[in-house]
Amino acid sequence: MDFALPDEVTMLRDLVREYVRDRLRPLTMQVEEEDRIPDGILQEMKDLGLFSIPFPEEYGGAGLGELGYCVAFEELGAVNAAYSNIIGGHCGLCGMSIALGGSDELKGRYLPRMGTGEILGAFALTEPNAGSDAAHIQTTARRDGDSYLLNGSKLWVSNGPMADLYTVFAVTDRDQGAKGVSAFVVERDTPGVTIGKIDEKMGLRGSRTSEVFFADARVPAENLIGEEGKGFRVAMRTLDGGRMSLGASCVGQAQAALDLALEWSKQRIQFGQPIASNQAIQWMLADSEVEIHAGRMMVYHGAWKIDSGQRASHEAAMVKVYCSEMLGRVVDRAVQVHGGMGYMKEFDIERMYRDARITRIYEGTSEVQRMIIAQDLLSGD
Ligand SMILES: Cc1cc2nc3c(=O)[nH]c(=O)nc-3n(C[C@H](O)[C@H](O)[C@H](O)COP(=O)(O)OP(=O)(O)OC[C@H]3O[C@@H](n4cnc5c(N)ncnc54)[C@H](O)[C@@H]3O)c2cc1C
Repeated sequence: MDFALPDEVTMLRDLVREYVRDRLRPLTMQVEEEDRIPDGILQEMKDLGLFSIPFPEEYGGAGLGELGYCVAFEELGAVNAAYSNIIGGHCGLCGMSIALGGSDELKGRYLPRMGTGEILGAFALTEPNAGSDAAHIQTTARRDGDSYLLNGSKLWVSNGPMADLYTVFAVTDRDQGAKGVSAFVVERDTPGVTIGKIDEKMGLRGSRTSEVFFADARVPAENLIGEEGKGFRVAMRTLDGGRMSLGASCVGQAQAALDLALEWSKQRIQFGQPIASNQAIQWMLADSEVEIHAGRMMVYHGAWKIDSGQRASHEAAMVKVYCSEMLGRVVDRAVQVHGGMGYMKEFDIERMYRDARITRIYEGTSEVQRMIIAQDLLSGD
């Protein structure tokens, strides 16, 4: 067993790490205050190839697989989860749903332009009445000649306000339950597609989410991803990779929180000595170190499984629940190590504490991940 990262993945990690240190880290407070990514930054990230990491090479992708994608997410999560959220909605969710389920024609039409970042994607599954119970969406797609008419509304779509195209999940056969859900690529300028309100969130500032509405939006039949009735399967396979990379972002966020706590514990003097000399503080640091390492190994193993062509839904659910909850514990300890300073907006750890909270909710809540894991256990899969 070789635990070393492949050379090309190490090179990618070093490239992203350097870019994060030199360009993104100095912008952290600005992103937080303005709730937007400064002009030119997304273009720089596109130019670095960060919008195409897992796409197949024949469609203009970097071909660095889930492992490369996760390693980059670790670095991006460490500076600000808004970046991994934007790329996640675009690349891991919208792009990979096309890559995993789409026809060669559909992949050829969209992936190369998504890879360069010429067009930005988003993933529209959640609805007002269907969150965890995603199979019960109400958006409909009715066949009409050589196209489909989409009607319905989607909620909390990451990249929703800026996207040029959406992967949209809609019901084509109500009687079939999850097997009656189909997936479509819908271009933003399709008549009948409108953007609703942009959400005010607890954290993840800089990453925009919104409602997206469809009113008799006419979508060409060739924009169906795969076959009719296979949409839910496309969504779940896509989310396997999404959950893995979200876990990687959690590992990066947790590592950054531990690094800040470590630094603070060495410089903060109380009772005439650095607080790091107290065992109570040392144990918090040690527990975080152990948990981050465990999370990182789970992510790399799950990514390896996906890259070697194996199903990894069970591992993805374990990565998602463990890494998001691990992040919650690590960032909470880091605030504790900072004392009152950890509660102040001038310290980055305050933002990280808020940003961490969403990871236990989106791309399937902790409860949903435990349901998946337990169902696999009980069915003997
Ligand atoms: C910032 C943000 C960005 C998002 N981005 C996207 C996106 O890009 N695309 C997209 O499609 N969606 C997106 N979402 C939606 C997200 O995936 C959902 O919020 C998530 O799946 C949970 O659904 P819900 O919020 O409706 O919670 P609910 O399903 O209403 O759940 C509420 C609570 O009940 C629990 N619960 C529900 N059912 C059960 C059960 N059977 N057993 C035990 N507990 C249960 C849940 O775990 C949760 O704790 C985003 C959400 C947010 C907040």
